[in-house]
Amino acid sequence: MEQLIIPDLIILNAGNLVTMSPDLSNEESGLEKNLGIIKDGAIAIKNGKIAAVGYESEILKSIKIGKDTKQIDAERKVVMPGFVDPHTHLVFEGTREREFLMRQQGIPNPHILKEENTGIISTVRWTRKAVFKKLLETSKAHLSELVNWGITTVEIKSGYGLNLEEEIKILKVAKYLKEYTYINIKSTVLAAHIIPPEYHMRDEKYVDLVINDIIPIIAKNGLADFNDVYCEKGAFTRNQAKRILKAGSRNNLIPKIHADEMSDAGGAEVAAAAQAISADHLVHASDKGLEKMQEAGVIAVLLPITTFSLGSNDYADARKMIDMGLTVAIGTDYNPGTSMCTSMPLVISFAVAKLKMTIEETLYAATLNAAKAIDMDNEVGSLEVGKRANINILSVKKIEEMPYRIGENYVETVISNGEILK
Ligand SMILES: [Zn+2]
Repeated sequence: MEQLIIPDLIILNAGNLVTMSPDLSNEESGLEKNLGIIKDGAIAIKNGKIAAVGYESEILKSIKIGKDTKQIDAERKVVMPGFVDPHTHLVFEGTREREFLMRQQGIPNPHILKEENTGIISTVRWTRKAVFKKLLETSKAHLSELVNWGITTVEIKSGYGLNLEEEIKILKVAKYLKEYTYINIKSTVLAAHIIPPEYHMRDEKYVDLVINDIIPIIAKNGLADFNDVYCEKGAFTRNQAKRILKAGSRNNLIPKIHADEMSDAGGAEVAAAAQAISADHLVHASDKGLEKMQEAGVIAVLLPITTFSLGSNDYADARKMIDMGLTVAIGTDYNPGTSMCTSMPLVISFAVAKLKMTIEETLYAATLNAAKAIDMDNEVGSLEVGKRANINILSVKKIEEMPYRIGENYVETVISNGEILK
């Protein structure tokens, strides 16, 4: 007779177990089927992975609760995959609250940037000044904020170093967090964030440095999974972006792009041409660019808190993108300039209220689609046997309450790779 699995941990009595895997649900159709919702569900975890997931009565027959098996009673609440944040800049020093306040008072950006301690460049200055140990401590604190809101898979970008040594320092912090915490982390070199002041009026020289030195050396040292570029007026042109992404691809770094955030800079088209895994922001992306993205299978990562934080009402047109057949993910864009936000629950409220996404689209965007945007959908983003045990237990009983409870932290229990973190 086959030996029954003795799990390390079992979650019982899930009133709504949201698996994001329609095949697992016995529901006939509709929202519950599409989200793979199991009423009266249970999940068994062994060695950090999901060993069994399904209806509680069936799970209890297929496993054996041992004397060391830890049990959690979900008390009929919502149990769902851990949130996946596909876009953060969480390794940084210093904050820029004054800039935020000025912007909300309607002071124009060029004026704000003339003030001291404003703009990306001030974050670059503070981050460069911090020694590795200090930057690591600050970044650990940032990461634990995300975990508090149920985010257990995170993409982290560099981009506040802007020279080889400092970009390496930032990516080594990300690597440390990946190796010494229970959080799943993917990292991205964003050496092409802005032109550093020491290359003022010598843009091409800096692009050459990024292409010939920074990208190849970072890739060779295994410090990044992705290569990103900020394609925007005042940052990098579409031709520079193309060259920078190509250089990454030559070094086996998957392309990503900050596209069409402030204006239509042709970023969506560059994303398609470069076969990027995702194009992020897309507030001003052209229809033609979006069509090309759809054909090339580029995922749209939307960051509504950034729009809010910029004091703008120009939200990305998620409805159009979804209707065109694009896969849409959402993220925090956590950064000290334009999105000092670590809360995926808040992003979820904004996705529903401002991007006009349905609850079903929003939950996929915050889990499985976000995992696709960082090439981790085989490991996280849904509750399926063999995937990493990244699970949130919420304080609510219905998923419809999630966007409705604006600003509330309804994430009660956070499990990542089988470890209970909250
Ligand atoms: Zn960003």
